[in-house]
Amino acid sequence: MKRGLPMSLSLCIRCGTQRDRPIARCTKCGFAPTTDEDKAKSLLLSLDCEIDGEYRGRTKEELLALSTSFPAGGATFEQRDLDAVLAHARSGSAISSRKLLADLVRWVGLPLLALVLVFLLLHFTE
Ligand SMILES: [Zn+2]
Repeated sequence: MKRGLPMSLSLCIRCGTQRDRPIARCTKCGFAPTTDEDKAKSLLLSLDCEIDGEYRGRTKEELLALSTSFPAGGATFEQRDLDAVLAHARSGSAISSRKLLADLVRWVGLPLLALVLVFLLLHFTE
């Protein structure tokens, strides 16, 4: 075990060994996530799992506790969380640009609409 806290923390989904990056080969059992599902699980067992601003990973305390008492059959995952990670990975940037547009409309479009309404209101009350 290295001294000092790592910048990031993730667990091997097979044996629970701690490592720095979620998508890295395990130094203990040699497992490396290759399928989308394994990568999604690896992300869920890390501090790096965030989807559209919502945190889906575990806390460092949870990861450390899980690492010391790792279940023999491997970690279990909520299908809901797995689906969310997979959907996020597959949609790529499409979702974020759509979300960006929605944000733009919300933050620019609505005030603009309000301005136009105020303008019309003033114009017709003159
Ligand atoms: Zn391992």
